Amino acid sequence: MIKIRNLTKVYKMSRKASCTALNDVSIDFPDKGMMFVLGKSGSGKSTLLNMIGTLDNITSGDIWVDGNNVAKLNKRGQQKYRSSYLGFVFQNFVLLEEFTVYENVKLALDVSGVDGDVLEVLESVELLEYKDKYPNELSGGQRQRVAIARALVKKPKVLLCDEPTGNLDYRTSGQILSKLKELSKDLLVIVVSHNLVDAEEYADRIIELFDGKILSDKSRDYDYNNNLIVSDNEVILPHHKDLTDEEIKVLNENVKVGKKVKQGHGAYYDKDVVIEGERDVVFTSSNLKIKDYFNLSRMFSRKNKIGSIYTILITALFISLLYLIQSFIVYDKVYSVYNKEKKKNLLVRSIYRIEHQKDL
Ligand code: ADP
Ligand code: MG
Repeated sequence: MIKIRNLTKVYKMSRKASCTALNDVSIDFPDKGMMFVLGKSGSGKSTLLNMIGTLDNITSGDIWVDGNNVAKLNKRGQQKYRSSYLGFVFQNFVLLEEFTVYENVKLALDVSGVDGDVLEVLESVELLEYKDKYPNELSGGQRQRVAIARALVKKPKVLLCDEPTGNLDYRTSGQILSKLKELSKDLLVIVVSHNLVDAEEYADRIIELFDGKILSDKSRDYDYNNNLIVSDNEVILPHHKDLTDEEIKVLNENVKVGKKVKQGHGAYYDKDVVIEGERDVVFTSSNLKIKDYFNLSRMFSRKNKIGSIYTILITALFISLLYLIQSFIVYDKVYSVYNKEKKKNLLVRSIYRIEHQKDL
């Protein structure tokens, strides 16, 4: 339904300085479903959403919505498009503090001149009993549900959500995303986020932006079974899951005959876009051997000349702690798979890590 073609947005800061927020982006969005647009801060996510929402002018390109190029409509045409097609949900809720919940939602109808049932929509986000409360009497999750109700009351075809859970705790985020997921059965929901874990849990499709360009575009394969996949020239590891003994055996047999090993992305497969510098994986043994502990502790104890068991233990503890801290820090980029057959296994002795060559 939405076809974006060669979309470019350049912000002019001064006569000399400019910033290319979107660089020749083309995407097709379907009529329904939960789309996540992921990327680091500054990668162009909000700009993309604002362009789809005609909240700002594009520099070049086209945005076709049901056959109309909305980027080329005049102001009045764009206003009509926004009120009849779109609902917006933002990170900071943007509620009017001096109006009640009911009034905040009703205002969306008054402003756009569209018909809608405020009470029905408040009920659908479980806020009916809060209709006479003011925003400052509500929790973060409730405020965001008011914002969702306000977006929904106009019966939009597309819900544009910019970091909708950015100000919410983990549990409340889950509730909001579940609600959005439920809504996405009937309309297109585009969620801008930098949270890969949320995306993998809720998205039907994940589009990653990097520096104003599409880095990857993956759709969920609902028939996917998350096991080791062996093809003619590569082996793809399951996502966030231990290998079974049988899978480890198969993996080793295939590595021995020279097949590449790649980290799978769970139930997502690459779509349309070819990723430059495909994320191959490298195995590195991350565990130090006992003799390394001895060498390191000797190094530390050289000054006071006591190569005691005590120093060795402290050093071992210190190094283990470092590894533990490191494994938390790099969690998003590095997956750890515990190899249960460590004694028999030739490929890796202990915990091995699979590192993305391309650091996102
Ligand atoms: P994201 O939402 O992924 O964090 P944005 O779309 O907000 O990224 O921004 C993309 C780039 O465009 C950034 O480098 C940002 O500094 C720049 N940018 C965004 N809005 C403006 C603006 N109004 N004026 C100038 N530069 C902007
Ligand atoms: Mg943003």
